[in-house]
Amino acid sequence: MATILVTGGAGFIGSHTCVELLGAGHEIIVYDNFSNSKPEALERIKKISGKDFRFVEGDILDLDALDKVFDENKIDAVIHFAGLKAVGESVQKPVEYYHNNITGTLMLIKAMRAHDCKRIVFSSSATVYGVDNPVPYVETMPTHTSTNPYGYTKVMIEQILQDVYTADKDWSIVLLRYFNPIGAHKSGLLGEDPNGIPNNLFPYIQQVAVGKREFLGVFGNDYDTPDGTGVRDYIHVMDLANGHLCAVDYVLAHKGVEAVNLGTGKGSSVLDVLHAFEKACGKELPYKIMPRRAGDIAWCYADATKAKELFGWEARYGIDEMCEDGWRFIEQNPNGL
Ligand code: NAD
Ligand code: UDP
Repeated sequence: MATILVTGGAGFIGSHTCVELLGAGHEIIVYDNFSNSKPEALERIKKISGKDFRFVEGDILDLDALDKVFDENKIDAVIHFAGLKAVGESVQKPVEYYHNNITGTLMLIKAMRAHDCKRIVFSSSATVYGVDNPVPYVETMPTHTSTNPYGYTKVMIEQILQDVYTADKDWSIVLLRYFNPIGAHKSGLLGEDPNGIPNNLFPYIQQVAVGKREFLGVFGNDYDTPDGTGVRDYIHVMDLANGHLCAVDYVLAHKGVEAVNLGTGKGSSVLDVLHAFEKACGKELPYKIMPRRAGDIAWCYADATKAKELFGWEARYGIDEMCEDGWRFIEQNPNGL
């Protein structure tokens, strides 16, 4: 069993992954500055797993603080979730996004290198496939364009990590390209808890379901898709968390760089998700068709073959379970964590 540093471990995907890591017997050290999460998430991880772990409140921009964590602990590998992730905000605040995500990652790599810890799993995104590639997205496709600064931070960090490996073949790097993570832990104790008005579909639907928002705005119904609304590859956050367990095992045993999609390989439309959620919560949810959202594409789904071949990983849950678990969480925590 290994000791894993989890940057951004108090966040949505990080916290669910911590539950999986602890469940598999790994030791974890969570490093987070709570810029987009709350300490309560850590309490929930402990409650679900029945295990305690080290937590360091710190910023990935703070090299001294990172060095201290590596000085004080023998860390085998890092899972690097920490980053800012709001697409729209990144257009308004490009400097803050590039600084936090890219400079922060460079600091982390420096601290890792100085302590001879050269195994990292990085949170990348399907956004790196840009707008020109045809679906399903395959890892071998070109990934050098994006439509916003957030997306470019992922493109650039992938490139940086590739170059780190080119310079030093001792590194072991997995770039996990997530599709659309939704849902929550089965216990209802842990889930997504965004600040303010949700930007993403699923947390918005959750808030409509508990009466915090009046209706869902559906961004366009004139796309070239079966019902005209956008199609995405929604993946249960616990499937995603389990994918990280596989990726950690992989970096502990191999050297090199691998980009790997974590998706189901299946697409669902906005209305598919809305109707599945209505089934889960047992009530009709109001919606209105709105204009398309700038930067959105019609289709986005994964070719999930590589994750199966490399890790033996496959998504287990479908859209109904994602909605049932997401409903349980919001019903039990209507005001978040
Ligand atoms: P999140 O905002 O819930 O979690 C990110 C965590 O990082 C938060 O707890 C935040 O406080 C922390 N953080 C941010 N900047 C930090 C800094 N400078 N120092 C220390 N901690 C910092 O987001 P999430 O949905 O869990 O996403 C995790 C990662 O996965 C991010 O890198 C995100 O870009 C990526 N990703 C997310 C999605 C998605 O749909 N949620 C899709 C693709 C990729
Ligand atoms: N969407 C929507 N209403 C919302 C939020 C999102 O209709 O309030 C649509 C969006 O246009 C896209 C899909 O839901 O087709 C998923 O959007 P989300 O922001 O969750 O993820 P993205 O795929 O953009 O990363």
